[in-house]
Amino acid sequence: MFDCHTHVFGPGHVGGAALEAVKRVWGEKYEMKALPEENYECVKKCVGAIVLAFDAPATGMIVPNEYVAEYTSKFLDKLFGFASVDPNKWNAPSLLEYAVKELGLKGLKLAPFYQNFYPDGKKHFPLYAKAAELNIPILWHQGTSFIPEGFLEASRPAALDPIAREFPHLKMIIAHMGHPWIGECISVVRKNTNMYMDLSALGTRSWQYYNAMVLAKEYGVLNKILFGSDYPFFTSEETKESLYQINHLVEGTNMPRILNSEIEAIVHRNTPELLGLVK
Ligand SMILES: [Zn+2]
Repeated sequence: MFDCHTHVFGPGHVGGAALEAVKRVWGEKYEMKALPEENYECVKKCVGAIVLAFDAPATGMIVPNEYVAEYTSKFLDKLFGFASVDPNKWNAPSLLEYAVKELGLKGLKLAPFYQNFYPDGKKHFPLYAKAAELNIPILWHQGTSFIPEGFLEASRPAALDPIAREFPHLKMIIAHMGHPWIGECISVVRKNTNMYMDLSALGTRSWQYYNAMVLAKEYGVLNKILFGSDYPFFTSEETKESLYQINHLVEGTNMPRILNSEIEAIVHRNTPELLGLVK
């Protein structure tokens, strides 16, 4: 089990609109905190994991690249730190180059909903060109969230298609199967050979999750689903358990099933090799 989607949130990393929204939705007392040692308690049960930085000043979330690098550099055989740079910054490509070459980070995390940018805007293509040149993957939060200030209309999976066409060798992952636009996510991932999607954070909506998996199966793209948890919101173990429960809703019916062998294949996916993280 390789967890392709985990976070760390240190003291003061989440504020502004994000913190306000989190408290509104999950309660005043909710603390958005996941220290490196807490993250490690989760991912040590996995063969490896990706740990994400977050540079989203537009909504108040800033997990510095240095913070992630300091943690992941202690476990180089197991952890892959992904940088994040705000594409609205004029020097975003050079910030990414620094994070990869100097800090040793292995990928890029982008999130139009939290960073408030339109991914298909040509002015951002130099950043994707830099990722392609550095031969690193991009993990996209390309789906919804609940922060009022976020750019929902910038967050549709199809907005990534022009990027995939321009950079056919660039590996890209759409997190959360692009929820709620799961069909759109599947169609983008199916047509672009170097695109993948992760199933993180889908476990709490059992009907949507079941439908997402069945749709992926019908389109023949179960092989492009990566296992990920979205820790600290879910642990890797919880994610695995909910995946094995995927058919629970339809027990006793003639509805389609996801086979145990298909679930096993996702849980044991060779994600670092697929993404080119190990060379
Ligand atoms: Zn996440």
